[in-house]
Amino acid sequence: MSTFQDLGLNEDLLKGITDLGFEKPSEVQEKAIPILLSEETDLVALAQTGTGKTAAFGFPMLQKIDVNSRTTQGLILSPTRELCLQIANEMKAYGKYCKGLNVVAIYGGSSITDQAREVKRGAQIIVATPGRMKDMISRRLVDITKIQYSVLDEADEMLNMGFKEDITEILSGTPEDKNTWLFSATMPKEVARIAKKFMLDPKEITVGHKNESTSNVSHEYYMVNARDRYQALKRLADANPDIFSVIFCRTKRDTQKVAEQLIEDGYSAGALHGDLSQNQRDIVMKQFRTRQIQMLVATDVAARGIDVDDVTHVINYQLSDEVETYTHRSGRTGRAGKTGVSMVIVSRSEMRRLKSIERIINKKFELKEIPNGMEICEVQLKSLANKIHTTEINREIDPYLEEINTLFEETSKEELIKKFFSVEFTRFFNYYQKAKNLNVSAGDSNREGRSQSSGSATRYFINVGEKDGYDWMKLKDFLKEVLDLGRDDVFKVDVKETFSFFNTEKEHQEKVLAFFTDYKDNGRFVNVEVTEDRGGRGGRGGRDRNRGGGRRRDGGDRRRRDDKPRGDRRSRRSDDNSGNRSDRRRNNDGNSEGRERRGDRDKSVFKTSHSRPTRSRRKD
Ligand code: ADP
Ligand code: MG
Repeated sequence: MSTFQDLGLNEDLLKGITDLGFEKPSEVQEKAIPILLSEETDLVALAQTGTGKTAAFGFPMLQKIDVNSRTTQGLILSPTRELCLQIANEMKAYGKYCKGLNVVAIYGGSSITDQAREVKRGAQIIVATPGRMKDMISRRLVDITKIQYSVLDEADEMLNMGFKEDITEILSGTPEDKNTWLFSATMPKEVARIAKKFMLDPKEITVGHKNESTSNVSHEYYMVNARDRYQALKRLADANPDIFSVIFCRTKRDTQKVAEQLIEDGYSAGALHGDLSQNQRDIVMKQFRTRQIQMLVATDVAARGIDVDDVTHVINYQLSDEVETYTHRSGRTGRAGKTGVSMVIVSRSEMRRLKSIERIINKKFELKEIPNGMEICEVQLKSLANKIHTTEINREIDPYLEEINTLFEETSKEELIKKFFSVEFTRFFNYYQKAKNLNVSAGDSNREGRSQSSGSATRYFINVGEKDGYDWMKLKDFLKEVLDLGRDDVFKVDVKETFSFFNTEKEHQEKVLAFFTDYKDNGRFVNVEVTEDRGGRGGRGGRDRNRGGGRRRDGGDRRRRDDKPRGDRRSRRSDDNSGNRSDRRRNNDGNSEGRERRGDRDKSVFKTSHSRPTRSRRKD
């Protein structure tokens, strides 16, 4: 095991390291620093999050640049504003004793002229997000023609976020003979491709297995019915009173909803997603860092910059579509030598995805049970006892003690303890005494409960499909949102090319039909009607539909299936829009803009990506 001194770092940097309290190099630092210091080479380094990659490229860059020159010599590209700021701050801390050092962060959402001014003052190192960097280059606010060292930090994330073109453009403006150091947690094909394109014979180092998640993290899964997801989340939180966690949802909408629901239920929770302003996000992150928020509910994109070291639990409320994402999520815990738990709440249908993740991270998930009510009561009670035991007495209560003591004059210590704890216990007990078992066993026949009970479900036809950018998950999200239904009230969603099917319980039928009576998106009516098909297994209503509904495919007649308008709404509608009808049809078939870019999962499914679809007013 070597020391930082052994790695060949100079006195100024060693002093900075002592101040930071780093005792010995991490593995990636031990491997990367000597190579980068002693050779002029390109490098590909794969290491999980939290392994100290910033210092692995930061120290060598700081040692190699000329601080006496005001020319920009080092460029670090990183995927998000948060990471950018974080890296810039780390670099400044590492280089605290490098006199004349000037590190500038460049990122969107902040004044470009201010940033340009800072660069002009003589930044030897620029830490930038690709988007803003490209902007600055095209406006000639930065000079990258003298760059000697470029770093692609979190390369996999940058590519995931669609920065490939920006990166290509930026790098093509830098000198041919510069060195490029690529750091990444995972190595998908795109990263390999980028490496090949921009690097000459790079040295390679790998810490742990490729794509493997950090070894300080244990991986658990909990199998529940999809509709019990939220209840399961609450129990996991209650069973871990000191939880300090990041909870991942798939969409911004779910993120917001889960956070709101948690807050409503009395948890200290907050949401972090791209629909919030930068200011709102900063506030939430500050609250999380200072532990005012115990449960941060986040989308994958928004959580990228989270650099909080003491996260105890990562909870995958929903799994992401991309298996690599799991590595990033679980890497939010178990950082800086601490241990952490990554929990996945899954329904049976997601088991396959869990298996693919196991292959990628090269670890097995352990099946755990959602604790039952009494187990939670017990945990809470013990936690409270511990808290009381270790609480420091607050002298401010002294003036009130006399009155309180009088009240308890006759009460023995035993009795007082019993009463005191009953307060807290009763709260949980009342809530949990009738709580059901949420666990579903792998062989459980009651799969997804009510989805199977086709007798009480209604099956609908809806005139949007793949052509409109939907897959089953997006359609389900959309329906849940507009109908304000619970997370699992919409099921058996079956998306075809130009139309789809879905189920709800019968009790929601009226609401669903009423809502879609007038529903319009971008001037186009979204039409929903009840179909006889049950959508049950073996029913394959979709296929029948495909055959019978040929007309729909080529966009001809879009009236209800039985060809009889229900009530008179159709005719009334066409009266309202008599001139528009053919336009609407064309729109129906031509609308494929809703499709999302890869990695853009947070985007709304509709082409007006930010405004919610509006309901048209009926002129009755
Ligand atoms: P990564 O980029 O690999 O996710 P970071 O560079 O952000 O990891 O480092 C994670 C945390 O570990 C940071 O808080 C950093 O200050 C700390 N750290 C880095 N190197 C060391 C070290 N050698 N000793 C102690 N802590 C370190
Ligand atoms: Mg990093």
